[in-house]
Amino acid sequence: MTVTLRFAPSPTGRIHIGNARTALFNWLFARKAGGRFILRFDDTDSARSTREFADEIERDLEWLGIEPDEIIRQSDRTDAHDRAAAFLREKGLLYPCYETPEELERRRKIRLSRRLPPVYGREALKLSEADRKRLEEEGRSPHWRFLLPNFKDDPHQPERTDVTWDDVVRGPQTVDLASMSDPVLIREDGTYLYTLPSVVDDIDTKVTHIIRGDDHVTNTGAQIALFEALGAQVPAFGHHNLLTATSGEGLSKRKGALSIASLREDGLEPMAVASLAVLIGASGSVEACSSMKALEERFEPSASSRSAAKFDPEELRMLSRQLVQQKPFDAVEQRLAELGITGAKAKPFWQAICGNIEKIEDAAEWWVIVEQGPSEDTPLDKADQDFVRQAFDLLPEEPWTENVWKEWTSRVKTETGRKGKQLFKPLRIALTGREWGPELSDLLPLLGREGTLARRP
Ligand code: GLU
Repeated sequence: MTVTLRFAPSPTGRIHIGNARTALFNWLFARKAGGRFILRFDDTDSARSTREFADEIERDLEWLGIEPDEIIRQSDRTDAHDRAAAFLREKGLLYPCYETPEELERRRKIRLSRRLPPVYGREALKLSEADRKRLEEEGRSPHWRFLLPNFKDDPHQPERTDVTWDDVVRGPQTVDLASMSDPVLIREDGTYLYTLPSVVDDIDTKVTHIIRGDDHVTNTGAQIALFEALGAQVPAFGHHNLLTATSGEGLSKRKGALSIASLREDGLEPMAVASLAVLIGASGSVEACSSMKALEERFEPSASSRSAAKFDPEELRMLSRQLVQQKPFDAVEQRLAELGITGAKAKPFWQAICGNIEKIEDAAEWWVIVEQGPSEDTPLDKADQDFVRQAFDLLPEEPWTENVWKEWTSRVKTETGRKGKQLFKPLRIALTGREWGPELSDLLPLLGREGTLARRP
């Protein structure tokens, strides 16, 4: 069977770095196994899901370097979900319930006060045909629950029923089906909650491994029971730790926290985002991998720790900067061209400035400085101005060699007696308008004699 994984976001907001972690775990697992990766939109909640969010998620994944083999939408698969629901009803495994949330809450409190587990007591199973008719005549519509297989003969006598699996991230796991309520699969308005469509689609798309956040661990117990009730083979499961903000607060898609789109718009490198999303919260070190292949080699799902990992935007910026500064010209040529940086100078220009920028977009400012002159006017005092004028008069004639900077500054040193910072800083300010920046020995040949003289104060 082909190893098949899926990332199944609900398109109800922009995905954030925590969602990217889930997507990448599935994508890298599939790649490592030479398998398939499906992007599935869990869009059964039609009130909150939108096509725009789905399109943005596709774009975000593409930017991260994830290429789905197939894209499906749950909203196109309602017939399959209906068939599965009908099958479960026929088997007596899906039963109608009429309680309001207030009634359920009241019962939960009573159970707690009697020291009983606060789970649904299956009262609706006791309703007769006539009771149901009467309730429906009162205007109540049923919601439908899945009867968990946690009893021998009598559903009102649940017993400890362990569901176990060997989690690809967390190792052996056990969930007791008697510790949870029969999950609601269908809402009062007839729409599906996530559980049933997810299992049906996983079966139909032959998903072999499901990797998701550890907030789904308990859910997995119920879903395994559902796979079995539908006569399907149970896939392997993995649950990774979640990411939180540095404050410890959970990331929320709806709040737009640290969305992938905002990181992209900030000019961060996609491989820095992907590297951090995958390598954070694990036993190994976090490093910026320059390619998906390199990240795939570092990816080890079982190395994730159990506790939540704090995501620090500062660390992301650092990784992104490292990647930018290591990029060879070939890797950025296209992006530089989009910034208007083209021609014979583009390559030596990149080599001169790449160590001084954070984001590729920052190259544009240096290009303006090289091509047009300083964009900021950092003032030189009178003495420095006189010194710079004198220095410019000592500028070597053309043709220039690559040693021109050395040649020029040693002349200036001899003639003026200035050295070190006293000599370099005013020259740097005159040439670039800034007190810091790329090596002037690399910049000078890019300016040329004429361009240099044009900066004479
Ligand atoms: N749509 C679900 C979610 O976003 C998917 C969970 C799963 O991977 O099964 O939580």
